[in-house]
Amino acid sequence: MENETVSRNFIEQIIDKDLQEGKYEQICTRFPPEPNGYLHIGHAKSILLNYGLAQQYHGQFNMRFDDTNPTKEKVEFVESIKADIQWLGADWGDHLYFASDYFDRMYEAAVGLIKKGKAYVCDLSAEQIREYRGTLTEPGKESPYRSRSVEENLQLFEAMKNGEVEDGAKVLRAKIDMASPNMNMRDPVIYRVAHMHHHRTGDKWCIYPMYDFAHPLEDAFEGVTHSICTLEFEDHRPLYDWVVREVGFEHPPKQIEFAKLYLTNVVTGKRYIKKLVEEGIVDGWDDPRLVSIAALRRRGFTPESIKMFVELCGVSKANSSVDYAMLEYCIREDLKLKRPRMMAILDPIKLVIDNYPGDDVEYLEAANNMENEALGSRQIPFGKELYIEREDFMVEPPKKYKRLFVGTEVRLMNAYFVTCTGYEADENGVVHTVHCTYDPATKGGNAPDGRKVKGTIHWVSAAKAVPVEVRLYENIIDEAKGVYNEDGSLNLNPNSLTVLKNCYVEPALAEAKPYDSFQFVRNGFFCADSHDSKEGAPVFNRIVSLKSSFKLPKA
Ligand code: ATP
Ligand code: MG
Repeated sequence: MENETVSRNFIEQIIDKDLQEGKYEQICTRFPPEPNGYLHIGHAKSILLNYGLAQQYHGQFNMRFDDTNPTKEKVEFVESIKADIQWLGADWGDHLYFASDYFDRMYEAAVGLIKKGKAYVCDLSAEQIREYRGTLTEPGKESPYRSRSVEENLQLFEAMKNGEVEDGAKVLRAKIDMASPNMNMRDPVIYRVAHMHHHRTGDKWCIYPMYDFAHPLEDAFEGVTHSICTLEFEDHRPLYDWVVREVGFEHPPKQIEFAKLYLTNVVTGKRYIKKLVEEGIVDGWDDPRLVSIAALRRRGFTPESIKMFVELCGVSKANSSVDYAMLEYCIREDLKLKRPRMMAILDPIKLVIDNYPGDDVEYLEAANNMENEALGSRQIPFGKELYIEREDFMVEPPKKYKRLFVGTEVRLMNAYFVTCTGYEADENGVVHTVHCTYDPATKGGNAPDGRKVKGTIHWVSAAKAVPVEVRLYENIIDEAKGVYNEDGSLNLNPNSLTVLKNCYVEPALAEAKPYDSFQFVRNGFFCADSHDSKEGAPVFNRIVSLKSSFKLPKA
């Protein structure tokens, strides 16, 4: 029994109906990227949607490279796309396809249309074709080549295929309706001549099918039932239907459009990301400030967090932007119980415990995650000299300040109570050392006499802490000022990357491996960088800070 309180999205409703009516026995969905760039968070939505539907209905999920356009495609992208999809957890099993494998069948389909009188070779130039097409308010004009005989069309199309026609001199067009209110139906071009090398078929072909002809055929050849795409293809649907009908498929696929996912203050378009990469503004397609899947992974996002995000976004027919803060909410939710909470000092000053005996360290026990006992505990070194955060001490504190200032007592997390007795500053008045005394009876963080302290601060042992580099991020686009400058260039946030070279972490963190993530108490969630971490010397990227004003929208 279906849970009746769970409402079905519009795509599920369509599938339910198709299955009830016996239109298809089993569903088949696909993800069809063009291998011309890295995948981004928007693609993740499409992948998880298509894969999720196939899972939910016990159907099939196809992974297909839409590599019909030889200009822009690169083998490098094929590999990165596969890795990203696998990382997201979408499993295509044996169903990995390349649209270029269908070139022969596509050619046959085009010949079939010519034989039916449904396609013709046209000699108009690209510019003339545009002129003849008319406008939204005026019908188009028929091409003078529209009435060529089937015989002549077959011969010419074969000549195109055989390399006897120059690029751009002739095209094959569908013969539909030059007066159609839908511009896409005004005898669209379905094949062009292009003497170009293809990354898989080499020089075998010098004619290539256009997207609007190739895509429905790819779906139909594979037995895709529900071809889910984004809203901008809505006006192309009549052409999609025309192609699968005229080519004569018995169980033609059905195109369904949904709204693209847009994030606020974030660049997703391949064009912009390419520009950022080429101009050296970011350090590659996986720079942690980007939202390519590779970048999110490098930043420390998990597949689970992205899945949660995509589910919260839902599927709809209306374009809208989702707040980046929702993505941050999802990664916090995912990591908060899963990952250990450790201590790291990002902006260190020294704390000296003047009454601590000797220079040796002692080891104290600390729970790895107070909210999840299953993560166990660890031993952390403690001693006479510690590092604490600069902001945890003030010479002249404001009224409600709960941390260290001369005369106050605070708790050192997992350790002892300390009372501040004084401080040292340089000639500019910048504090570098704080002096304290500790109360050995408060080991573990509680006083036997029951006295309370107002604040708890974190620390690391100066003798044992490991120096590391930490990187903090802000959005690459400055939200308040808009995405573009007046001259059309991207309006970059100059503070999108802050590199902190002088941080100290607990010794256990020196063992962090690329992609390992942690909560650094009070500082946020961090992930060991996969490019720049070295054995024993990790570099940490901040995934997200701990606090947010983000509220989950009410369902
Ligand atoms: P972009 O222009 O953002 O680089 P694209 O549409 O050119 O993306 P494709 O490789 O053609 O990239 O897309 C593969 C699939 O991903 C398509 O089915 C497309 O509809 C879907 N897709 C692309 N961008 C988004 C998005 N922002 N939200 C949801 N789905 C998307
Ligand atoms: Mg595209």
